[in-house]
Amino acid sequence: MKQPLLPKVAAGCFSLLLAAELFSFNSGFAAVTAPPDDGKLRIICFGAHPDDCELQAGGTAAMWAAKGHHVLFVSVSNGDIGHWRDAGGPLARRRKTEVDAAHKILGIKGEVLDIHDGEVLPTIENRRMLTRLIREWKADIVMGHRPNDYHPDHRYTGVLMQDAAYMVTVPHFCPDVPHMKKNPAFFYYPDNFKKPNPFQPDVVVSIDSVMEKKLDALAIMESQFAEGGANGSAELMPSDPEKQKARRAAVREGFDKRNQNIANRFRAKLGEWYPGEQSEKVKHAEAFELCEYGAQPNQTELKRLFPFFD
Ligand SMILES: [Zn+2]
Repeated sequence: MKQPLLPKVAAGCFSLLLAAELFSFNSGFAAVTAPPDDGKLRIICFGAHPDDCELQAGGTAAMWAAKGHHVLFVSVSNGDIGHWRDAGGPLARRRKTEVDAAHKILGIKGEVLDIHDGEVLPTIENRRMLTRLIREWKADIVMGHRPNDYHPDHRYTGVLMQDAAYMVTVPHFCPDVPHMKKNPAFFYYPDNFKKPNPFQPDVVVSIDSVMEKKLDALAIMESQFAEGGANGSAELMPSDPEKQKARRAAVREGFDKRNQNIANRFRAKLGEWYPGEQSEKVKHAEAFELCEYGAQPNQTELKRLFPFFD
């Protein structure tokens, strides 16, 4: 039976409606519907802001979705300080609208938690929230940031994901949501930070077949990219329509390059997944590193979780 995700998460002793209201009030959740138990893969990706999951895993998500697998992108903060001019509720609403439209293009579900941008912390409440979401989604795969990153929200989202990696299996932690019998596999997104250790991918996926779709999804998030987000300025998107067109084209090209750079940076690893000359032909890629704290799939199992290598 399809159940709204969060009301069920909230607390078994309340009526569904009351619980939904309470949860909406506390966390800003809309009722995300948990996917059916249809044997398909279930993936939940956490990003600190409404744009992180899309940037890091938008292509792979679109490929999973095209094969009927169930993907949920969760932004842990609402992004309400992520603009040079706008802020607060109006910005959070704008970013939610943008990211919803992006998810529609990618063919996936999305959720934005109502935590202020710049204020994500690894609290017990947030550990519970992520644990419940992973359990309710019955995730096979969980993704998030590494805990060493320039942005505190990224770091603590990474810590929260790691904190959930064992707790999802502990029956008496959040006993209102059934614990997981099997730990999911947890993965990190790439970054360029080297201390204390650089990102080392375990899986590198060619996203050439969906690159245009990913670029379309990213293009919709104008508050972040065309307008430059927190460090942007009015000059980036002047009123002249020709200049706006040029700016949008430059943003699109920048993201195209970004995924080309990932393919080039991890070309050797691509060779382990795409035999012979195939790996040389990959132009755009996304890369993921397996976290040591969850399930530890072998190569065969990784191919089941990332069914893109046949
Ligand atoms: Zn971010």
